[in-house]
Amino acid sequence: MGAKIIDGKAIADEIRAELAKELEGLKTKGIEPGIATLLVGDNFGARMYRGAVEKFCAEMGFNYREETHPADISEADVIRIVESLNADAKVSGILPLRPFPEHISDSAVINSISVDKDIDCFHPFNMGKLALGEPTFPPATPSACIELMERYMKGEGIDPKDGFEGAEICVVGHSNIVGKPVSFLCLNRNASTTTVHVFTSMKGNLEKHTTAADYVVVAAGFPNLIGSEQVKEGAVVIDVGINRVIVCPECGTYNRAKKDPCKKCGADLSEAEGKTVGDANFDELVGKVKAITPVPGGVGSVTNMMLAKNTLRAARLLAGA
Ligand code: NAP
Repeated sequence: MGAKIIDGKAIADEIRAELAKELEGLKTKGIEPGIATLLVGDNFGARMYRGAVEKFCAEMGFNYREETHPADISEADVIRIVESLNADAKVSGILPLRPFPEHISDSAVINSISVDKDIDCFHPFNMGKLALGEPTFPPATPSACIELMERYMKGEGIDPKDGFEGAEICVVGHSNIVGKPVSFLCLNRNASTTTVHVFTSMKGNLEKHTTAADYVVVAAGFPNLIGSEQVKEGAVVIDVGINRVIVCPECGTYNRAKKDPCKKCGADLSEAEGKTVGDANFDELVGKVKAITPVPGGVGSVTNMMLAKNTLRAARLLAGA
């Protein structure tokens, strides 16, 4: 029997409908959720994300405030802008879009954001609450992983409380943005949680941990890191990775750039197609695991909805509702 493909887009649509009802209720009370982005300089990724947030706010019916400033603005001025966002009743959530230019300290900016408007859980206070098991704003991508696991469990007739308690969960990656918070969220649900990272791989111990897991959450930014050798039969794989690769037309190997020959067969890649893939070898795993999230169409699809959920929570907090 083939694996169940956990459909992130369908789950995102379900959550969107749930949130639309909640938003309608808030608007009848005069509460209007909104997001502000803070962008300094012109980093490509940060600019793309800013545009995506603006579009997303329009789709969700949220207010949107843009704060985009040239790279030579001073740190003191950026902090004054954050303070104005903290004081703006139309802004429920603030998203700092990093990287900032070198003269602006990430932590100085993050620490100046009101903890009640920190909708993606960047502030150390909110990360501390997450570690203590009392998150106000569980961060969006890690929450999307949990939401996908919970909805998968429900679909299988498993109460998520029972599904998590004592489950062997292996999180691959320990970044502050994804891996670590996913591990906290799993631990908070009483899963037996193992976190592995590049040093685990360097010691040759990755498979020892991943093959023992009922659930493997992979967030490494490394295409094909998890294949059939790395999981046990019947595991569930949640793939967070988003990697842009160049596919060799001769041997199918994933490469990083078109300018070099294929790292495996040496074929010319100048005309080769690009593709977005995760960290799991989907084609290989689909014959072995019980369920898997695709890339695209998995975790990434649900992430925005988790951000929307936190925005509604922030709007309620701000209104004291
Ligand atoms: P990151 O900061 O680069 O962290 C990657 C983590 O993976 C690190 O902890 C690293 O370990 C570990 N790692 C790297 N190579 C490994 C290997 N060979 N074996 C075991 N562990 C390894 O990246 P990130 O921000 O967490 O993002 C991870 C991936 O998720 C990226 O592909 C990113 O694009 C994607 N992402 C997706 C979403 C979404 O919404 N779907 C959101 C955010 C990120 P060390 O720290 O020890 O080096």
